[in-house]
Amino acid sequence: MIRTLIKGGACFALTLVLLGAMRVDSSAAKPNVIIIFADDLGYGDLGCYGSPIIRTPNLDRMAAEGIRFTDFYSASEVCSPSRAALLTGRYPIRSGMCGNRRVLFPNSEGGLPAAEITLAEALKEKGYATAHVGKWHLGIHEGSRPLDQGFDHSFGLPYSNDMDGRAGLPKGSSGSATPPEDGWNVPLLRDGEIIEQPAVQTTLTRRYTEEAVKFIQEKKEGPFFLYFAHTFPHVPLFASPAFKDKSRAGIFGDAVEELDWSVGQVLDSLRKEGIAENTLVFFTSDNGPWLIMGNQGGSAGPLKDGKGSTWEGGMRVPGIAWMPGRIKPAVTTMMTNAMDIYPTALALSGAEKPAGVKLDGEDLAPLLFEAKTLPERPFFYYRGDQLFACRLGEWKMHFKTQTGYGQPKPESHTPPLLFHLGRDPSEKRDVAADHPEVIARLQAAVDAHVAGVVPGKPQFE
Ligand code: MG
Repeated sequence: MIRTLIKGGACFALTLVLLGAMRVDSSAAKPNVIIIFADDLGYGDLGCYGSPIIRTPNLDRMAAEGIRFTDFYSASEVCSPSRAALLTGRYPIRSGMCGNRRVLFPNSEGGLPAAEITLAEALKEKGYATAHVGKWHLGIHEGSRPLDQGFDHSFGLPYSNDMDGRAGLPKGSSGSATPPEDGWNVPLLRDGEIIEQPAVQTTLTRRYTEEAVKFIQEKKEGPFFLYFAHTFPHVPLFASPAFKDKSRAGIFGDAVEELDWSVGQVLDSLRKEGIAENTLVFFTSDNGPWLIMGNQGGSAGPLKDGKGSTWEGGMRVPGIAWMPGRIKPAVTTMMTNAMDIYPTALALSGAEKPAGVKLDGEDLAPLLFEAKTLPERPFFYYRGDQLFACRLGEWKMHFKTQTGYGQPKPESHTPPLLFHLGRDPSEKRDVAADHPEVIARLQAAVDAHVAGVVPGKPQFE
């Protein structure tokens, strides 16, 4: 009898210990998530992506310690749709966040629909503290603003830094090497309230960074989600005095080097707080370089065209995932895209995919944490609400092409153009005539995709 009681007591104590251990484990199992999103940074603008002139030691180190993606895509060739897709895990056509006007403007009436479940909303459900720092560009009206879309805190610009231009500003001055500080009347907002107008852009990167680091320090007990969307290197370009005139690539290089410093500050703060091993950091860009800005627009490296285009340079962007101890250093050629971050973060947090919502991204956990190959899947290149191209494996097929800027109408291709991106990443040699079977396979993928798309109510008109 006594023995049974002792046994029972020991068993009870053991159960308590196990329960305690489980509790510790389950909280430790909820990693923090940080997305650092550059604006108009091209495929060729970082040292680790081959830039011979811009110094990015912090991003290079992040890439060396994490996974660097050679074939990572933004979900759109321009800003607002790309952000909508990043935060919803869905092609912008589904949320209506695309159209002829290309992006949202200060006088647009639409915005990210309240019914869309953003990553911030999904993670908040699992107890995450959430913050947005930087550019928003997903709407300024009720229902679409950061605090309406799942963020506890927000600090930054409501749209691009070249919007709200001052009357009389010389045309093209947004691409000037010395843009006027007060040339754009864009406001700086904290939690929806204007705290500065025009925003002093010279110190924006530094102030965004301070805000991001403060949030990390305050929420270090976790879990937290930080969406850090930089304003630069979108023109007009500004850099703080510590970076101005320091790079070999003019003000564009200065702005990118300051952005690199900022990434270093964020990663250092994670190391200092001892939470680097429990924080997934994803770095990428919203679209390719804005080439019509000349020296003020970045470089797509070997890729064709840039921002605004469905040629590779418009949508293939740097992509780096970092989580020391969990992610083993690697370079992957696996085709991935910004919509994958949503389901990846959801899976890490233990959240279910939202019921009844068609997601276009895939959970990257097998690739990130186990170095596994992902199943082959197609990627679709939209310009506005029009499907222009599709990639499957190394093959890319264009039905329509149009330069990012300057070509007024798209050119249709029947039969489509076909490029092998492995052998021809610059899309120079159309080999459609030699590969009708490949065309048929890509066409089948396109047909299946199109049949499953229900376009959302257009938000940009
Ligand atoms: Mg952009």
